[in-house]
Amino acid sequence: MKLRSLVTAGSIALGAVGAGFAIKSFLPQRWNTTAWDEVETKSSRLDTSAMPKIEVTFLRCGSVTIPEPIAVRGALTLASRVISHSAVLVRHPQATFLYDTGLCADIYLYIIGQSLLFRKTLANFEFEQSLHSHLQELKMDASDIDFALLSHLHWDHVSGIPEIPGVPLRINRIEYEAARLGLLDANQGLVRQLMSDNPIELFDCHGPAYEGFRSSYDMFGDGSVVLVPLPGHTAGNSGMFINRSNGTRLFLIGDAAWVSQNYLRPATMHPFIWNGVTSDDATARQTLIDLHHFALRQLDVPAIAMHDAAMQEEFMLAEERGKVLQR
Ligand SMILES: [Zn+2]
Repeated sequence: MKLRSLVTAGSIALGAVGAGFAIKSFLPQRWNTTAWDEVETKSSRLDTSAMPKIEVTFLRCGSVTIPEPIAVRGALTLASRVISHSAVLVRHPQATFLYDTGLCADIYLYIIGQSLLFRKTLANFEFEQSLHSHLQELKMDASDIDFALLSHLHWDHVSGIPEIPGVPLRINRIEYEAARLGLLDANQGLVRQLMSDNPIELFDCHGPAYEGFRSSYDMFGDGSVVLVPLPGHTAGNSGMFINRSNGTRLFLIGDAAWVSQNYLRPATMHPFIWNGVTSDDATARQTLIDLHHFALRQLDVPAIAMHDAAMQEEFMLAEERGKVLQR
């Protein structure tokens, strides 16, 4: 009898500790904010008058709606957040290209053999429209795409590749080298299968520091499209600045954050997700801090994460308004 009550008491205590951990995982984390107050919030405006006209279009292929505290740790709200799966079409005078690739129509065939856990968590989304169908709507096909620049090599960013056969894939060398050590073959080679046999072109961010990020790669040599490393989510997650003649700039940040609140607060996603998708915790947090500083300095340059449906929609609405005003 004594033993039984001891076991019961022990289970209650363990349960309480477990519940304590579970509750704590939803609470905000401490971040070192002391240095942030000293951050120079003013920054010189980049003169973009000599830059070309560049058209940017988000192509949303799928989405999932989740409670905000899952996307943003410490968010005290029951509001929901839409996490999108998108590609970005960039039409630059020197090249028409994609930043990430969205989803192909056959995506479920690729993930059908994956574990139930994978399909019910990371690969849980509602399919909306394939990359091919988006291109068709724009009266384009794969032959109009010069290359696809991949922010990183997680499956959900390479899932449109089967619909752009033969199109070269531009990948940060650090990302590719790291992926060859595991990511390409993880989940029964899912990423390798999706990347098909498209040619691979590696790039390096060996240029000077740019907008507070440690190095850069000026892709066309005219300052209009500049890549910067945003590591941590994966080793070579790459951000891309687009600087346009009309003065509007934007910054695509791959998966360095899920939604803007991750770098505005800053806060990671819920640790259950964050720990599952982040390759280097400390580096990924530092990248969030760098993005936080950037957002303070450049309020008029939207830093748009590849899963942030709200910011992507807002950007597209602003683009439409801009086009109407030009007419
Ligand atoms: Zn992703």
